[in-house]
This record gives sequence, structure tokens and C-alpha cells, in this order.
Amino acid sequence: MDSSKPYIRVENLKKYFSTKRGMLHAVDDVSFEIKRGETLGLVGESGCGKSTLGRCLIRLLDSTSGNVLLQNKDGEGCTDVTKVSAREMKELRKRVQIVFQDPYSCLNPRLSVWELIAEPLIVNSVYRDKAAMRRRIRELMDTVGLAERLENSYPHELDGGRRQRIGIARSLALNPEFIVLDEPVSALDVCIQAQILNLLNSLQKEFNYTYVFISHNLSVVRHVSDRIAVMYLGQIVELSEYKELFTNPLHPYTQALLSAIPLAKLDVQRERIILEGDVPSPIEPPDACRFAGRCRYAQEVCRHGTPPLTEQSPGHFTACHFAGKLEG
Ligand code: SF4
Repeated sequence: MDSSKPYIRVENLKKYFSTKRGMLHAVDDVSFEIKRGETLGLVGESGCGKSTLGRCLIRLLDSTSGNVLLQNKDGEGCTDVTKVSAREMKELRKRVQIVFQDPYSCLNPRLSVWELIAEPLIVNSVYRDKAAMRRRIRELMDTVGLAERLENSYPHELDGGRRQRIGIARSLALNPEFIVLDEPVSALDVCIQAQILNLLNSLQKEFNYTYVFISHNLSVVRHVSDRIAVMYLGQIVELSEYKELFTNPLHPYTQALLSAIPLAKLDVQRERIILEGDVPSPIEPPDACRFAGRCRYAQEVCRHGTPPLTEQSPGHFTACHFAGKLEG
């Protein structure tokens, strides 16, 4: 694997859905790269297109146009995930996986923990030898911290954290390289959230997984991400290394999101930016800054043409006509 090349390169990716009122632009011309072993946080309000983007990256959804170039296993060349055949996708599915938000709704309630973890191994005919499969299931349960005594339990008998551990074990079963984590802790209690985040971090350190971590919660994303992409209405409006994003947010939308995070120090004050106005419809959106209707800095130029995502300083990209010229 060549670490100097991007592991994933997303080029002008679009995903539109046809509706009675017109085309819904769920993901609209998104481009970025991810390095091998990196975690890219994808954050934004619900409905901004982050989960649709995550699904397009691993071809759970077919994209409307654009490319998702995934570095080949030998590091030589790339495979365009958006173009592979169904047969090639079956092979590729072993390399790219997803963990969903609600572990309960995505686990078959009639299957035991053992059967749930065995399922991807059986579907992909990984083992002929039952003893080898048994060893692999035990190993996976151990990796995600599920006690052996739980192997005959059913999802309804377990708490949310343990159910999510089953979801993670299933996604790891085929030795993937790239995992989309779609709000993996949103449905969990705070203390269980911390356990799952720690588990994901330690698995990444051990196996060098590449993650896309999707969340509506910036403070959760901050704890796991190397870089963060902020999405608004189908587009990336800011992308940077996580510390830079938190200390020097350039886009007014990112500034508003950050202002809503409670500060740990009681004696430190921060202006809370209240966003007014409605989120515009994603159906046939106008060619303009999509944040203009809610932005306190909006000017006439913002209503004509979409500001491109531009590099303002090394590695820090923003889509705003006035980036760097606004007070934070
Ligand atoms: Fe606000 Fe204009 Fe920047 Fe859009 S381009 S975020 S409307 S200042």
C-alpha cells in the first residue's frame, strides 16, 4: 500500500433523487481525499447529505455522477467504486464496510450473537472448516469486547453498547480496510458512547483501518477525527485538520455549530450564534451560496454563484466568498 497516495479520492460526487417536485440534490459535487489509516469526520445537521455520501462511498447507493477511487490492495492503481460490476462489488465488499446508527434495527432479532457474527462469514463462504470459523467468531467477539458467555444471547437481551459491539464485529468479520461509521454512538448513553469510541480508536491503531465517521455532533467527531469535513445542504463548506477547525473556523456555518458546544470552563464566555431563517429546499437548489438565507454576513454576491471550496491555508478549505475576512 503506497502511503504517499490518497487511499480514497472522491471526485465531483453527486447523488440526486427524483421526487414529484423535482430532483433532490442530496450530495452535490463533493470532492475530497482520505489517507490510509486516517479518520475523516463528516459533520452537519440532519438532512445535509452526510449519510447519503457515506453510503455512496461504499456503493450501498449508486451515485448520480462522479468517482470514488479506492487504492487497490497492492497499491498499484485505483478501482472506481462507482463503476465496478456486481460481481466485482462482491469482492470489494470485503474491503469496505459500514456500521449503522441503530444497532437494534439492523440486527435480525431471531439470530443469536454467534449467528449474527457468523452471517457475513457464511454469506461470503470464508470458511469450509467449522472449527476455523468457530475460532474466528471467538476472536471477533474478543476483539470487540463481547464475553464468550453471550454467544447464545439474542439482541433484545443485550444493552445498546453490546448490540453495537455485535455490529462492529460483523463489519470486521471480513478483514476490511475502510469502514463508514454512520452515527455509531448517537443511539447510546453517554458512558457507553465513550466505550465504543475508545474501542473504535484502539481497533484503528491495531489494524490501521480507514474511517469515515459521520455524526451530527461536532464534539463527538472531535474525539475521533484527524480531519473534519462540515457539510451543508449536500455540499462540503469547510474541511480541515480537526484542531485547526476548532481554533480557526472560517465558514460562518462552522462558526455557528462551534458556538453551540458548551464550554467546560464556567468563567469562559463565548457568543452563541443563533441561526435564523429556514434551511432552503434541497430540491433544485439555486446556483448561490446555500447558506446565504441564514448567514449574518450574506451580501449580494453570495446570491449569485456557488462559492467554490478553496484552500485558504495549507490543508484548510472553505467555501465562502469572505473566508478569513469575517470575525470568528
Ligand atoms: Fe455567508 Fe456569503 Fe460566505 Fe455564504 S458566501 S457563507 S452567504 S458570507
